[in-house]
Amino acid sequence: MRSSRYFLPILRETPKEAEIVSHRLMLRAGMIRQEAAGIYAWLPLGLRVLEKVNAIVREEQNRAGAIEIKMPTVQSADLWRESGRYDDYGKEMLRIKDRHEREMLYGPTNEEMVTEIFRASVRSYKDLPLNLYHIQWKFRDEVRPRFGVMRSREFLMKDAYSFDLDAAGARHSYNRMFVAYLRTFARLGVTAIPMVADTGPIGGDLSHEFIILASTGESEVFCHKDYLGFAPPPADIDFDDVAGLQGVVDHWTSRFAATSEKFDAAGFDAVPEADRVSARGIEVGHIFYFGTKYSEPMNAVVSGPDGKTVPVHMGSYGIGPSRVVAALIEAGHDEAGILWPDSVAPFTVGIANLKTGNAETDAACETLYRGLLAAGIDALYDDRDERPGAKFATLDLIGVPYQVLVGPKGLADGKVELKHRRTGAKDLLAPGEVLDRLV
Ligand code: ATP
Ligand code: MG
Ligand code: MG
Ligand code: MG
Repeated sequence: MRSSRYFLPILRETPKEAEIVSHRLMLRAGMIRQEAAGIYAWLPLGLRVLEKVNAIVREEQNRAGAIEIKMPTVQSADLWRESGRYDDYGKEMLRIKDRHEREMLYGPTNEEMVTEIFRASVRSYKDLPLNLYHIQWKFRDEVRPRFGVMRSREFLMKDAYSFDLDAAGARHSYNRMFVAYLRTFARLGVTAIPMVADTGPIGGDLSHEFIILASTGESEVFCHKDYLGFAPPPADIDFDDVAGLQGVVDHWTSRFAATSEKFDAAGFDAVPEADRVSARGIEVGHIFYFGTKYSEPMNAVVSGPDGKTVPVHMGSYGIGPSRVVAALIEAGHDEAGILWPDSVAPFTVGIANLKTGNAETDAACETLYRGLLAAGIDALYDDRDERPGAKFATLDLIGVPYQVLVGPKGLADGKVELKHRRTGAKDLLAPGEVLDRLV
């Protein structure tokens, strides 16, 4: 992308309404724009990051055996009456009437709808297990939308739903998602710790929130510091290996980790004092086994091996990609701007032409830019007629991990400068060497 042809509305002033650093930086970097309370438009730079997060989420869901669908945002109230949740959900649900006075709603989640899709076509245990997911906008009329896309009213969610014949099968499905989440967050360059969460009336131990530690997090969390050093499961892990997956989950639940809602003083006191982490955290994911809570009232049943009809066991598995984008910034920034993990940076390489209009620098930048594009690297070429300082500041603010600075002085010595955003390390290279360093 050439900056001269891009839409990157950088703000010079620090927006006053933004209370936390991720919100400030997302506004300043021109990633998002608020259109109404808790409702945001994603501008080109923000969308690039969001889509890269989605791509990683999707790859890991697919790897774990989940199958992508796309359910609508608008749902019928009747579906929610079947589960009894239409009345229970309360004011967080945005209720709408269509022209025929039919009651509709903007989905805050999709358990009912996916159960309806399932029951319409699955009849036999032989079609199980099944896990369907989508990445779709949700609306929750939060009491206090705040912190930008961290707690917005309209937000993106990846929500997966598993269907199994029995509780043992459901546990394996749960473990698949547990492992997929560990891999997803590791690829996103963050440590998200699975913490015991409330299972409500279902009981049992199959509910975990994935929490990123950050001082601005809304949850109060307690855990063993070992979790900060655990290695994520490898890409070639066998998702069909029931015992193997259980082993990974057992390892990742072997130490104390709970939010304040599930805090148990005795459990935390048993952690050696030097290993106790008591911090704030951001809930970026939540996985949950809820048995036959929806399948029973909604009659989602299959015939078992013995010919008897039974309601299926279900679980749901959410990640909020839009919240994740903000959480990554909370976890990675400095005074100059954002520090993206390479995996989701909006552009991997930025080229700053320090003297636009100069034949040598223009030609060197052009060759470099085309070379990067041809190698499949996302590059932003700042070809505008601007001061070098403004170009450096923009690249740092939006967090481009590798920056190539091309000026007439350096070129006269046959060199350009390659800067690594995160470490600040700088290298002088021949223009022809840059590509070799980056691929
Ligand atoms: P919270 O406790 O923050 O209100 P939740 O427990 O209500 O979240 P879930 O129903 O578990 O959220 O939804 C799954 C995921 O969707 C969450 O883990 C989070 O990543 C994301 N999410 C939920 N609410 C919001 C929101 N208002 N804005 C952005 N992301 C959200
Ligand atoms: Mg909530
Ligand atoms: Mg929560
Ligand atoms: Mg939750």
